[in-house]
This record gives sequence, C-alpha cells and structure tokens, in this order.
Amino acid sequence: MSWFQREVARVLGRGRGEVRALQDLIAIEGVLRFTAVYGITVLIPALVLSYFALSSIRAEELYVDADIERRAEVVVEQVHHEAEGSFGRFEGSTRDRLAQNQSPLTALADLSPYLRAAFRFDANGNLVAPFALPQSDGNPEPNAFYRRTFLEARGLEQENEFRKAAERFRAAARAANSPALAGEAELARAGAIRRAGFAAEAEVAYTTVYADYANLRDQYGFQIGDRAALELALVAAERDPELGYGALTDLVDKLLAAKWTIGRPGEAAVARLALAKLERTGADPDWLGRSRTRLDERKNQLYWAERLSSGLALLIEDRSTGQRSDPGEFRYTEQREAGALWATVWWNDDLYAFAFDHVALVRDLAEAARHADSLDADVRAMLLTTTPPQHTIVARTLQPWFPTLTVAVGPIDPEGLVATKQRKRVARIVIVLIAVGMSIVGVVLAARLLNRELESAKMKADFAANVSHELRSPITQIRLKGEALQLGLIYDDTDRQAHYDAIVHESERLSRLVDNVLDFSSIERGAKRYTFRPEDLGEIVQNSVESARNTLESRGLDIELDVPDDLPVIWVDREAVSQVITNLLSNAAKYGAEGGWVGIRARRSGDHHVKLAISDKGIGIPAEEQARIFDRFYRSADPKVRRFRGTGIGLTIVRYIVEEHGGEIRVDSTPGNGTTFFITFPLEPRESGA
Ligand code: ADP
Repeated sequence: MSWFQREVARVLGRGRGEVRALQDLIAIEGVLRFTAVYGITVLIPALVLSYFALSSIRAEELYVDADIERRAEVVVEQVHHEAEGSFGRFEGSTRDRLAQNQSPLTALADLSPYLRAAFRFDANGNLVAPFALPQSDGNPEPNAFYRRTFLEARGLEQENEFRKAAERFRAAARAANSPALAGEAELARAGAIRRAGFAAEAEVAYTTVYADYANLRDQYGFQIGDRAALELALVAAERDPELGYGALTDLVDKLLAAKWTIGRPGEAAVARLALAKLERTGADPDWLGRSRTRLDERKNQLYWAERLSSGLALLIEDRSTGQRSDPGEFRYTEQREAGALWATVWWNDDLYAFAFDHVALVRDLAEAARHADSLDADVRAMLLTTTPPQHTIVARTLQPWFPTLTVAVGPIDPEGLVATKQRKRVARIVIVLIAVGMSIVGVVLAARLLNRELESAKMKADFAANVSHELRSPITQIRLKGEALQLGLIYDDTDRQAHYDAIVHESERLSRLVDNVLDFSSIERGAKRYTFRPEDLGEIVQNSVESARNTLESRGLDIELDVPDDLPVIWVDREAVSQVITNLLSNAAKYGAEGGWVGIRARRSGDHHVKLAISDKGIGIPAEEQARIFDRFYRSADPKVRRFRGTGIGLTIVRYIVEEHGGEIRVDSTPGNGTTFFITFPLEPRESGA
C-alpha cells in the first residue's frame, strides 16, 4: 500500500474508521481503473471513430456534389467543344482561302454547312461583293397614257394582232416618262414583231434595244440588256443553233459572274431561262452542272441577303463606328430577330461578313447538348437565352459566338437528388449511433460481468475463511475434551459421559461439514453420483430428525414431526435425502432459533409425488434474497445471519440433490415470521438418475 493511499484513507476515514475507508478506497480504485481501461481501449476509440465516420459523411456529400459538378462540366465542355469545332473549321478554311487569295464568298457550304450568305465590304464600308445594295432606279411611276397604251398592246397580242400590238408598244415607248419605261416598251415591241413572224426585223429591234437601254432595269428588276440578249440569242438559235447556243452560254457565264443587286432577282431569272433552254439542247453537261450549282448558290445567297438586309444595314453602321479587329480575327454578333449570326473578319483593308443560319445552329447545338447529356444518366443539358433555372449546376455562355446563349446543366431529378442525399445521411448517422450505443452497452455489460466475477472471487475467499472457521470449533472442542479425559482430569462419571457425548457430537458435526464440502466439490466437478433404491421416506426423515434432535433442542427449539405411517416407498439415494433434511434442519437451528419451533411434515401428493415441508418461525428471508439463497457461497449480508457460522453451500447442495432426484424445491418466507422449504419428490426416479 502506498503512502498516498494511506494518507487518503486517513482523511476519508475520520469518524468511520480507517479500515472501512481503505476498503472503500480500494473499491473506488478498482472502479477508476476499470473506467480508465475501458475508456482508453473502447470508449475513446469508439468516439474518435464516430467522429471520423460523421465527418466522412460530410466529405462524401461534398465528393458527390463535386462529382456531379464535374460531370456537368463535361457536358458543358462537350457542347462548347462542338461549337468550337464547328466555328474553328469555318475560321480555319476561311483564313486559308483569304491567305491563298481565293474568294471566301463562293462555295459557302465548304466553309460551314450553316453559312447562308457572305459579303465583302471595302475600307469605306461599301458593299463590294457579291451583291450590290439596291439603289433607287429613279424610275418614276408610268404615266396614265403609257400604262393604257401598253395594256392595249398586250390585249392585241392576246388576239394575235401582233403587228398592231407592235404599233401600240411603239406608241407607249414614245409616251414613256422615263428611258427605262421606253426600253421596256421597245423590248415588248420587238417581242410582238418576233411573234408576228418577222425574225430578222425582230433581231434588229432587239439589237437596238440592247444598244440603247442595256443597263436600265425594268419595273420588275430585270436588266433590259439581259432580257434583250436572251431574246437575241433565242432568235439567233432558230436561225443558226450553233451561234444561238454560243450566245446563250456566254450570257449565262456573264450573268453568273456579274454583281447582282440585293432584292433584284432578274439576273437569276434570266440565267435560269437560258440554262433551261441549253439543257434541252444537250450542252456540255459538266458546264451545265457547274453553272446550275453556281446559279443555285447565288440565288440562295441573294435570297438570304435580302432576308438579312436589315441586319446587313446594322452591320455596316456598326462597322463604321466600331473598332477594327486584327486581320484574320473573327468577331461574332447575334441578330436573333433576323435569324442570323454574323461573323466578321478584316483582311487586306476589306471586311468580310458571313451570315450563319442562327436557327439551324441553335437547333444542332441543342441536339449536341442532348447527345452529350444522354451519356450521363443524372444530368440534363439545356440551351437557354434566359437566366438558368434554380438547380443548375454549371452554366456557361457560348462565348464568343453566342453571347446571349447559355448552356445550363442540372440534375435530371433535383428533388430526388436531395432526398437520396438526406436518406444516405440519416442511414449513416443511425449506423454510427448504433455502433456507439453498442460499445456503451458493451462497456456496461463488461462492467457487470466484471462485478459478478469480483463478487464471486470475494465469495470464494469468504468461503475458504468460513470453512476454516467452522472446522476450528469442533476440532478445538474434541481436542479439549479428549485431553481432559486423557489427563484423567474428569472424576465424575456423569461428567465423563458428557465429555464422550460431546466428542461424538462434535465429530459428527465435523464429518457433516466435511461431507458437505466434499459433496460440494464433487458436485462442482460434476462427479457426484447417486444410487437410487426403494426407500421408506418416513424412516429417513425420522432418523435425520433424531440425529439433529440434540442440536435443535440445545437451541431451544420444539420439534413437531408430522410423518404418516403409510407414506409410499420412493426411489431415492438414502444418504443424499438424509443430507437434504440435515442441512435444512441445521439452517432451522441457526436461523429459526428465535421462533423456538421447527416443523417437519411429509405427505403423499397425488399418485406420483411426496411432499416434504420443513418450517421454522425464525428470522425469515427477504423476498429479494429468496432467489439467490440457492446460489453457491451465497450468504445473506444481514448481521442476524452473519452472527452464525456458515459456508453458503448448504442450500446449493440441497437444491442439487433434489433436482437430481427429479424433484423441486421452493421457499416460502416472510422476514420476521419464519421460513418454510417445500420439497417435492417423484415416487419413481428420473430416467437419467436411475
Ligand atoms: P449457510 O447456512 O452456510 O450460510 P446455506 O446455503 O445453508 O448457507 O444458506 C444460505 C443462506 O440462506 C443463509 O446464509 C441464510 O441467509 C439463508 N437461509 C437459509 N435457511 C434459512 C432459514 N431457515 N431462515 C432464514 N434464512 C435462511
């Protein structure tokens, strides 16, 4: 024991005694040591583990968020990549053409499938190619006389009065209030002459028209010279096909190469007529194909140029105010109302403007987005012009091409995502709590187990001490009495007899005690065997009571024996049953002495059992102890019990023997009123006991 422990015990022990204080201290130390060991080896690790488990939940949630964000990023990247690829190819091939001095205004489909029209402006902002901006022709409205006369001529033509019609057309030409109107009437006149059947005269008339009015446009946007040239070629073809077709071919080449004017489809129409004629004559198919393609392309461009003309005007305005970008650097402008996306680039003091079909581009990008998100089951991509919706994970504008267009990627099922997260979190927290709870329960159980073991160890120690005590008293008695006799110190016969009786009595007590201890030890080892024979229970009871009579009476107990003569024979081990009764009577002698009475009663019970009841009117057993008195080494802590010597194995042996006989033992007791032990034996022995 350390100095420290002694000092603490001294302080605690004031008024209670140091020994008690020291015992308490040792007990407290045991508890503290247990708490420390379990705290360090179980509880603290469990708490640390739960802390990490709980924080890993947060980490995993963050990881899940980061993962879905990464996937969303991938989808956005793919859409962006798609646009980048498409525009990258366009910019590359356009720059190549510019660098090689080839026009980027033709074969637009090779530059980009979305390209609808392309324009070139000079440094002053004038549209140079491929079309001209429409200028006012300066044609006044035709006067009333002209209009009337022209209609009359057309009416005459309907009636096949071609010569007369030609006259009227001439009259109209004379009355025309502008050269273009005059040219138109002259052209119509030449047509009437031709239909009248005067080819040579018509040819002369067309030639005159061509010479006088070639660069004027009629009311429908046709260049009068082109129409005259077409008619001339057709007339010539009738006369000399070779010559005529040659002229038609030249006309087509010239028209396709000419600069057309936006909103004036005349050149395209004349070229189409000429080509149609040539197709029927079996012209060079290569040339025909090329021309047809070129015509279609220019027609298309012209159509788009007209549709985009408002945007083009804006672009020109912008161009004059805006800063010049570096040569070869593309700039993009969206004109959603016009359905156009414009790309502009400077090259050698020229500005090129390319019009993309905005609708088709957006449609295909949306398709690309759908394709990209179809590869990921959890996210959905959208192409938006508005603010992205609430649950969007990643949103990026499609700069630099579509400043107003945003690719937004969000979870397919945002609520589901949140719910799943919540569910997982709850499940994990519950698991952690269960684990912590179980380790706490484990600690409590271990503490109880330890406590029980400690108690049992203490009981064993008590048992050893009690046995030694119990042995000492009869041995001392026998020795004293024996020595007195041996030394001849007893002269009186009665006295001598009393000494002999005492020696016999004490040796009986000694052998009972030793029997009990030996029996208990063989019971504990599982080595105890019983031999069952048909016996007279009444006789066994009577003999046992007789053996105990001395002890009982010396304690002042009246014995009331109630055993009928006609008790049936039962199969038992005589010694064992005798030991049961002796042990119970010995207890009655100790704990029932106050009541001054002990009762032994035996009865037949039904056809198969006998009942035995051994009662006293002593101190009784509290209800909470009744279940434990049969446990090995158990002795009540009550001082009234502790006053007597005992080993705590008497009832353990009793119960064992009874149960080995297939019987039952039960206690009925009220503290202060006495105790009765009821035992039931079967008439026939148990199968296993036989
Ligand atoms: P021991 O008598 O040696 O203590 P037992 O196993 O015979 O051990 O009895 C166990 C305990 O049961 C006793 O210590 C006592 O508290 C209680 N007990 C047994 N018989 C009686 C009785 N007749 N009256 C009151 N208490 C009893």
